[in-house]
Amino acid sequence: MKQPILQVQQLNKSFGSKQVLHDISFTAQKGHIIGLVGANGAGKTTLMKAILGLTSAQGIITIDGHPSSFDHHEILKKVGALIEYPSIYPFMTGRDHLKLFAKGANQSQKIQSVIHDMHLTKYIDRAAKKYSLGMKQKLGIAMAILNNPELVILDEPMNGLDPQANKELRLLIKAKSQAGTTFLISSHILSELQKVADELLILDHGRIIQETTMKALLAASNHYLVLSTSD
Ligand code: ATP
Repeated sequence: MKQPILQVQQLNKSFGSKQVLHDISFTAQKGHIIGLVGANGAGKTTLMKAILGLTSAQGIITIDGHPSSFDHHEILKKVGALIEYPSIYPFMTGRDHLKLFAKGANQSQKIQSVIHDMHLTKYIDRAAKKYSLGMKQKLGIAMAILNNPELVILDEPMNGLDPQANKELRLLIKAKSQAGTTFLISSHILSELQKVADELLILDHGRIIQETTMKALLAASNHYLVLSTSD
C-alpha cells in the first residue's frame, strides 16, 4: 500500500482530568475523502486541532511520512484547514482575505481560480462584514484550499451553506480529490458526509466506534433493506 498522506496513531487527549480522545488511529490515503461523523461534543474539532498542532495531544501524527512535530512549519505547507469559524476581518474584502493567505508562485492565478471554484465572484470585492454566514463559510473554505494543499481539513464545512452551495462544495471536493487532494471533513450529520465521503470514521465520546468505506456502508444498508422488506 502507498504511503498515506495522513497517519494518526494512538492519539489521546485530555482537558484536565477529562479524556476527550481515546486511542484514535486511522490513515488517509492520497486522494481519499474521509468523513468524520459524531454528535456535538464527540471530539471532532479536538481531533482536527490535534492533527494541525493547534492543541497538544499524546500519540503519533505523520503527514506525508513526516512526524508533524518535526519541522512543523514545512509540514503545514502541505495542509489547508478551516476549523470552527473562519477568521474573517470585517472591513477587508473577500479578495483581500485571499491576497493575505496566498503563498508561493502564481498567486493571482490561484486567487482567480478559487473565486471561480467557490462561486464567490459576485461578492468578492465587498467588505466581509456584509457577508452572510454562508458567504463567510465559503470564503473560509476558499482560504483553506487556495494554495492547493495536499491535505485539506474542514470542520463542519456545510454549516450555513444553502442546498445549492452545499452541492457545489461536494462537486468541488470530489473533483479535487480525483486530482489527488486528500480531505478530512467533519459533520454531525451522517447524510451530509454520505454524499461526498469515500470512507467514514464514526466518533463517539472520543472513540472511533466504526471505520468503514462508503461502499461497505451502502452494501450493509442495502442488505438491511432486503432483509426488512422480505418478511
Ligand atoms: P461540536 O460539534 O459541538 O464542536 P465536537 O465533536 O467538535 O463537537 P469537541 O469540540 O472536540 O467536539 O469537544 C470534545 C469534548 O472536549 C467536549 O466535551 C468539549 O466540551 C471538550 N472540550 C473541547 N475544548 C475544550 C477546552 N478548550 N477545554 C476543556 N474542554 C474542552
